[in-house]
Amino acid sequence: MQEIDKVFLTNMHKAGFVNIIGKPNMGKSTLMNALIGERLAIITPKAQTTRHRILGIVNDDDYQIVFSDTPGIIKPHYKLHESMMSEVKTAMQDADIFIFMTDFKDRGIGIEEVIERLAKHSAPVFVLINKMDEAKQEHFLEFVQFWEKKMPKARVLPFSALHDFGKDQLMKQIVELLPESPPYYDKEELTDRPMRFFMSEIVREKILELYQKEIPYSCEVIIESYETKGSLVSIRAEIIVVRESQKAIILGHQGEMIKKVGENARKAMETFLAKRVFLDLYVKVDKDWRNKEDKLKKYGYH
Ligand code: GDP
Ligand code: MG
Repeated sequence: MQEIDKVFLTNMHKAGFVNIIGKPNMGKSTLMNALIGERLAIITPKAQTTRHRILGIVNDDDYQIVFSDTPGIIKPHYKLHESMMSEVKTAMQDADIFIFMTDFKDRGIGIEEVIERLAKHSAPVFVLINKMDEAKQEHFLEFVQFWEKKMPKARVLPFSALHDFGKDQLMKQIVELLPESPPYYDKEELTDRPMRFFMSEIVREKILELYQKEIPYSCEVIIESYETKGSLVSIRAEIIVVRESQKAIILGHQGEMIKKVGENARKAMETFLAKRVFLDLYVKVDKDWRNKEDKLKKYGYH
């Protein structure tokens, strides 16, 4: 009897992995958050904000979609970049459905290899031409035809992740295409990442917002401790930089800048956790974390 129930359920339920890939700054993380309805992936106007793959899960009684946001496709300059690109490579392999994110200005220059592989892929591919809110309506068809020519099997959709334009249609088509499968994750879960991960991403987001140029890219944020005491969460975070001079910049005159980072991060954490947060922030110099295998591992890159 139990066996029959199981078969019945398996037949009714759909589940699958939908991987979002594309160049940096196309709106991949914005899309992911719009689809999940929570601010999971951090979003900023700067390229390379997303360093890790992040899963976001959409649950319904009849289906489960596991979206994965990936770092933008770039040519590796550091070990860190290599690790990011290996995450993109994995993302090219383990999807049931692909979302290739582009925008109306992008013609796919520099990522021809990825486009070719997607065009030949047996899994369904959506090409989202994002930021259409900024494009002229009379050009829509031209953009769509450009990408249909490059990927003849793909479903090309004009889109705006920021304004939810095209989102409902995309969701409907994804659900239709999902393979029959039991859920992969508990239906209560939104993401595979632990809370510490989101706390460190929040600090990183505030650094990206407050500092200029290359400073944010030389930083990593480690959550040294995370403790819940009733309605209060106590967090100790370390900002790792590459040079002493960067530490001075992060601290700012009389520590004013880091105080600001701390304040902004604490507020964002409180909103995210719906709890009061006590945040302790430190800055540490670690000369070449970006180039050392073991250090990257320690900081969560594989
Ligand atoms: P990612 O690097 O591909 O993950 O891109 P992000 O999601 O971080 O977005 C990069 C920038 O593009 C941010 O400033 C977003 O606000 C902006 N953006 C994303 N989607 C849209 C959109 O639909 N329209 C407009 N105008 N801007 C967008
Ligand atoms: Mg991103």
